[in-house]
Amino acid sequence: MTRSGKEYMDGLRDGRRVFINGEFVDDITSHPAFRGAVRSIAGVYDHADDPANAEVMTYPSPATGERVNKSFLIPRSEEDLRSRRVALRKQAEMTLGLMGRGPEHVAGFLAGWAARPDVFAEGGQRYADNIVRFYEYVRDNDLYCSYAIVPPQIDRSKPAHQQADPHLYAGVKEEREDGIVLAGAQMLGTGAAISDYLILSCIVPLRPGDEDQAVNVAIPIGAEGLKVYSRRGYAEAASSLYDYPLASRFDETDALIVLDDVFVPWEHVFVYRDLDITRDQWSRTPAHLLGNNQAQTRFSVKLDLLAGMAKRVAEMNGSASFPPVRGTLGEIAAHAAMVGGLVAAQEQNCEIDEHGVAWPGKAEAYAVMTLQSDFYPKLLNIVRDLCGGGVIQLPSSAADYAHPEARADLERYVQSPGFPSEERVKLLKLVWDLVGSEFASRHQQYEMFYAGAPFLVRTRMSEMYDFDRATALVDRALAGYGVEGPQAS
Ligand SMILES: Cc1cc2nc3c(=O)[nH]c(=O)nc-3n(C[C@H](O)[C@H](O)[C@H](O)COP(=O)(O)OP(=O)(O)OC[C@H]3O[C@@H](n4cnc5c(N)ncnc54)[C@H](O)[C@@H]3O)c2cc1C
Repeated sequence: MTRSGKEYMDGLRDGRRVFINGEFVDDITSHPAFRGAVRSIAGVYDHADDPANAEVMTYPSPATGERVNKSFLIPRSEEDLRSRRVALRKQAEMTLGLMGRGPEHVAGFLAGWAARPDVFAEGGQRYADNIVRFYEYVRDNDLYCSYAIVPPQIDRSKPAHQQADPHLYAGVKEEREDGIVLAGAQMLGTGAAISDYLILSCIVPLRPGDEDQAVNVAIPIGAEGLKVYSRRGYAEAASSLYDYPLASRFDETDALIVLDDVFVPWEHVFVYRDLDITRDQWSRTPAHLLGNNQAQTRFSVKLDLLAGMAKRVAEMNGSASFPPVRGTLGEIAAHAAMVGGLVAAQEQNCEIDEHGVAWPGKAEAYAVMTLQSDFYPKLLNIVRDLCGGGVIQLPSSAADYAHPEARADLERYVQSPGFPSEERVKLLKLVWDLVGSEFASRHQQYEMFYAGAPFLVRTRMSEMYDFDRATALVDRALAGYGVEGPQAS
């Protein structure tokens, strides 16, 4: 089944402990820091739930035959990847590529894990059964999972078990007959406050002695002992939709997750105290590729938005035909086209494994991850360059238009041909919310770090590229000659 937006919102009223501005939130769906994001996600649910969109957005569940969201699809062909991407792109367009951890993100990870239960079975068959059952449950009930898979920054020079307190990093505190008890903290649960389940695991390398942290579990956000410590809410700080059109609608929020002796029944444990499987779940299953293929489909939408904004601003300012400005627009467009192309190439260069599962092309996926932390901040700067002081020379808020004298001045001096004052200001406030506001700044940090610290991603890229093919060319170039000149072959 697919859920409606209302069903999604109803599910969030479960007694969850979300903390912001010195207090726990009563109702996440009406709190000003979260309600905008909740409504945006509800809109995404409604879109997929609309029978008119069923063909593009859903597929029949192999278990029930009912239509389920395509983000859960386990791809078995290039065509499956393409059809999944079309649905994911549509979903991303609804939130302008600005919600990185909507329900469709972790759905890809779950599909990747469920596609390769053999990896989880190495820890015991029950763990393989658990991951498949949980994936099917989430898929068939259209649930929203977020994840926290990085230990908090406390002391990066020491492994988990050598921290001052062995339960600083989230991990197993107690094993019981019916399940396990977890304690500690994990960063950085984007969307956790507005999701149904948290997947808690670890993607950073663990060392022998860190077995307590070597887990993968699912926890309902409303579980007793789970606390979500949100950062500052940009939606709440936004003075109006007109002034902060992106922050007010798409701030998915990020949070520190604290586990105060949280009980997890065995059926929600997928990896248990196993360093090898905790590592292998990211590389020996297509989870990381499917999750990041979605992330890049979303990123591609965001780059198109950025390119569109740059073009509109140049047109409005009358600079679009200046050759240097056209060159600048071309530079932004090149990056947008490159990412779109690399996402599509992941379909063409997919590999079908021995289980019949299609893995998106690795080199292309990691190329985007590697490059984006570098070029996204540069693109923001390019757009800021195009805007000049226009994004600053703006009325303090929408309320300024209600003052007749101020309104008359704004209409006279803050306008462009074809763009009456309210339209000019509207566009520039939109641009500022993507390139300059606190929301924009968080997005820059997000695009730099969501796939991991850039130095780690670059290292991983070096393992994904076909260096054999590359070095064979070097051998070819070196063949057939020496200091004496050409050699007979
Ligand atoms: C906006 C945002 C949203 C996020 N959402 C999520 C989420 O939903 N779920 C989730 O699990 N995580 C999330 N993350 C966390 C993200 O996965 C981590 O930020 C990322 O893995 C990097 O880890 P870190 O922040 O602890 O940085 P660190 O690992 O502490 O690294 C920070 C910097 O220190 C330097 N450094 C550290 N170690 C080394 C080293 N060994 N060698 C050389 N240099 C080093 C590098 O300059 C590096 O960039 C999010 C992060 C951001 C910014």
